[in-house]
Amino acid sequence: MDDCIFCRIVKKEIPADICYEDEEILAFKDINPMAPVHILVIPKTHIASLNDIQPEHTFLLGKICTVLQQIAVQTGIAESGYRMFYNVGADGGQVVLHLHAHLIGGRKLKLEV
Ligand code: 5GP
Ligand code: ZN
Repeated sequence: MDDCIFCRIVKKEIPADICYEDEEILAFKDINPMAPVHILVIPKTHIASLNDIQPEHTFLLGKICTVLQQIAVQTGIAESGYRMFYNVGADGGQVVLHLHAHLIGGRKLKLEV
């Protein structure tokens, strides 16, 4: 998708601080971090949101979890704890319409809705 900012990061048209990449997944630092560690883990293929997930994406979603867990270890927050979440749609606070898992940690997180 030419007008999708995360597709453009995948294509390296826009710079990002990348911390993991393979043929299916990209992970990079959030440009506006809400915690000391704030990483976005995305599929390279354009999927707009969790609403668009199909059965054939099941492996991809599991891989996003596995990559996120590895990054939690690498950034030193696996033991202290962290949060993974997806925002979905307008009420869910989703701004970028390219599926992305947030990984936040590095401080005590509050439960907010
Ligand atoms: P959402 O609210 O859609 O779940 O989260 C989108 C996230 O993407 C936000 O936390 C925002 O700071 C981040 N973001 C938006 N544009 C960019 C960008 O160009 N580069 C990076 N690294 N993060 C971005
Ligand atoms: Zn996209």
